[in-house]
Amino acid sequence: VAYAEANPERKLASSAPVLTSAEVDNKKKKVVVLGTGWAGTSFLRNLKNPDYEVHVISPRNYFAFTPLLPSVTCGTVEARSIVEPIRNIARKKTVDVQFSEAACLKIDAVNQKIYCRSNVENNLNGQEEFVVDYDYLIVAVGANVNTFNTPGVVENCHFLKEVEDAQKIRRTVIDCFERASLPAVSEEERKRILHFAIVGGGPTGVEFAAALHDFVNEDLVKLYPGVKDLVKITLLEAGDHILNMFDKRITAFAEEKFQRDGINVKTGSMVVKVTEKEIFTKELKNGGEVSTIPYGMALWSTGVGTRPFIRDFMSQVGQANRRVLATDEWLRVEGCDKVYAIGDCATINQRKVMEDIAAIFRKADKDNSGTLTVEEYKAVINDICERYPQVQVYLKSQQMKNMVDLLKETPDVSKGSAELNIEDFKTALSKVDSQMKNLPATAQVAAQQGVYLAKCFNRMEDCEKNPEGPLRFRGEGRHRFRPFRYKHLGQFAPLGGEQTAAQLPGDWVSIGHSSQWLWYSVYTSKQVSWRNRALVVTDWVRRFIWGRDSSR
Ligand code: FAD
Ligand code: MG
Ligand code: MG
Ligand code: MG
Ligand code: MG
Repeated sequence: VAYAEANPERKLASSAPVLTSAEVDNKKKKVVVLGTGWAGTSFLRNLKNPDYEVHVISPRNYFAFTPLLPSVTCGTVEARSIVEPIRNIARKKTVDVQFSEAACLKIDAVNQKIYCRSNVENNLNGQEEFVVDYDYLIVAVGANVNTFNTPGVVENCHFLKEVEDAQKIRRTVIDCFERASLPAVSEEERKRILHFAIVGGGPTGVEFAAALHDFVNEDLVKLYPGVKDLVKITLLEAGDHILNMFDKRITAFAEEKFQRDGINVKTGSMVVKVTEKEIFTKELKNGGEVSTIPYGMALWSTGVGTRPFIRDFMSQVGQANRRVLATDEWLRVEGCDKVYAIGDCATINQRKVMEDIAAIFRKADKDNSGTLTVEEYKAVINDICERYPQVQVYLKSQQMKNMVDLLKETPDVSKGSAELNIEDFKTALSKVDSQMKNLPATAQVAAQQGVYLAKCFNRMEDCEKNPEGPLRFRGEGRHRFRPFRYKHLGQFAPLGGEQTAAQLPGDWVSIGHSSQWLWYSVYTSKQVSWRNRALVVTDWVRRFIWGRDSSR
């Protein structure tokens, strides 16, 4: 690593001195990991191959357990309990790991270098900048908040992405109660200050609304009896329903529960502008009528966007037209070499069966007869299912067990003809691509991608010596590893009052107090260290006994 002093405003000097990885260690290959979130940390924890030297670069020197961030906003769990220093994780590894607290500003994929700037403000030199080169780069920088360029959002709304955000929200909530309790404030102004608006009816918005409702009704009403009746919580959602990524039963339960609790759910309401004291919404159901809502505190939680330096990188590698950085199914960034991307910052560009149909047919037709026998067809089924996950999703949606059932549906075969030509083959598979969906931006996906990629790196040498893979459809040629496959383990939506909705694989839905206990146990077990586990459980016990702390 070389440090180059530079003016933050100046263009990054590409001539800054660089120590090549060969000079540092002439044997080990250098893997640079950007980010210490779910994806980056999961990669780091699972990497075992001592042939690599790892350099982790991230503007924060800890991992944060994001699913418990909503609990931090109300003091149910303390911020310190859900973070783990990255140096603690690195210290336990047999692999060489170095950490730098800095943000990557630019990726130069051609020269295999990244440009970074440290967080540390240095009065004499401005901020420290440096250049790092890599043999392999793993981009795991997560996503930005997406404001859809709505005016006033950045200036006036809270976000909930980082630990600092959660701590700030906690202080602001208490602040609103204190301000509303001051003697000279008018009734109308008190009402405004105690109106909490949440924009976005996804899992984060819903969980925050529920957590805030509990905090107000279990703890703050006792402490602020004078203003307790003025509190209002409003959830604004542009779509027709909240939690629309969940099963309909969960959505319905959540909407009913919120109504009973007095949380005001406004669907079909699109926020178009936010000022210091008012939110402007377009009522999609009322022909686009604009209405204004006075508020005291607003949380913006409407999905994720791409970071600017990733945008810049995308245009370098020919992905300027895409919305999100694309990788292939081995998580390699498309359009450049040696760069991988995992987690919220990337999406897998899944291959369409229809685009490869001729190649698949040729591969299956072992005797080059131009037709497939049922045996030939059966022999290629497993490969197809593995290579194109949408096939399995399609079979499941049609309640078919395997592709032989699919075959039975094609006209020629059902007529009794034993052989299948390419047109029949196309007909059989024509609908499967419609089932393709991008993976969600969740910790579960990010963590599994980190594990997958670490396993690839653990076996990389093995692969280079013996590159023949089990599957060799178009393009992927000499890659030995199976493509990344996501395994969905289920999803929770905490709804407050010690009730949680759980949607587990196989459309198994459970709502209520028992799922809350499942939630407690799953989130305890998923903590990255025993220290975190102990801290989180202690926080919960403390809350059961004494309630949440309401000091600023
Ligand atoms: P992140 O975890 O966001 O990590 C990104 C990392 O990159 C950070 O360390 C960041 O500091 C670093 N970074 C940023 N910029 C740079 C840069 N320029 N250079 C270097 N490093 C950089 N998912 C679930 O599955 N279940 C849940 O219950 C759940 N609850 C959630 C609740 C909340 C409040 C939030 C915000 C998210 C929740 N998620 C949940 C989603 C989950 O947190 C994300 O999908 C996950 O964090 C994505 O992991 P990541 O590693 O891609 O990004
Ligand atoms: Mg990460
Ligand atoms: Mg994270
Ligand atoms: Mg992703
Ligand atoms: Mg044949």
